Amino acid sequence: MFLNGKSAIVTGASRGIGRSIAIKLAQSGASVMINYVSKAGAAEDVRDQIVAAGGRAALFQADVSRFDEAAELVNAGLAEFGRIDILVNNAGITRDNLLMRMKEEDWDSVLTVNLKGAFNTTRAVMKPMLKARWGRIIAVSSIIGLRGNAGQANYAAAKAGLIGFTKSVAREVGSRGITVNAVAPGFISTEMTGKLSESVKQKMLSEIPLGRFGLPDDVANLVSFLASDAAGYITGQVVAVDGGLAI
Ligand code: NAP
Repeated sequence: MFLNGKSAIVTGASRGIGRSIAIKLAQSGASVMINYVSKAGAAEDVRDQIVAAGGRAALFQADVSRFDEAAELVNAGLAEFGRIDILVNNAGITRDNLLMRMKEEDWDSVLTVNLKGAFNTTRAVMKPMLKARWGRIIAVSSIIGLRGNAGQANYAAAKAGLIGFTKSVAREVGSRGITVNAVAPGFISTEMTGKLSESVKQKMLSEIPLGRFGLPDDVANLVSFLASDAAGYITGQVVAVDGGLAI
């Protein structure tokens, strides 16, 4: 229970990786604000699972790509728990297409949710975290942000943008006891990757030295470590959790 007494906000925590992160942080003792945008039922299930296991959790619907809604999410976390120690910027979408065919709205929506969303929530959490002189901000980037991928120029730009954002904010707030890091998952089995064709999945699998796709818990284990006191001397880093895919 190394996160006892801490409070966390996890964006996009109704499904997939965010869901696992919320549950793992709660299992480690943190109170968790579960953010979602559309799937209220799924978010309620996550809350119920945490509460049934003796943890503390609440829900808040907000589209993180909207500046005001992200601020409302942070205010709701503060009102519910009195403090926000950990922010996990996990919410993300894909709108894949070759650049030749990519629509302006595909570019805008991916950049706005994945990258601006992290700016919006981080901006909102800055004041209370600086005041508390302790904080953990963790972005869920992607190995696609490091190595690029045909058909994902928008997503790769957003995820690479998160890395620059992470390193810059880490420099700004390090003196106040706040660490800022990014995790870079490889291929993790969720609804997001479930959409890919069997042939794309098999090609990916053949490139993974550990010989299996990742699980949401593989990412959640890393995030909960980065959120802990034990990771207090780690900041501005991008940590891959990809079974060796990006070696
Ligand atoms: P997922 O299963 O599709 O879940 C996406 C989550 O994001 C859902 O909870 C969704 O909420 C939420 N969300 C989407 N748009 C939002 C918005 N505007 N505001 C607030 N929440 C929003 O995705 P996933 O695979 O778990 O991915 C989670 C993160 O990991 C993403 O940032 C993704 O880019 C990153 N990632 C995934 C992989 C992978 O292989 N899966 C690899 C590398 C990085 P609703 O349920 O309410 O729609």
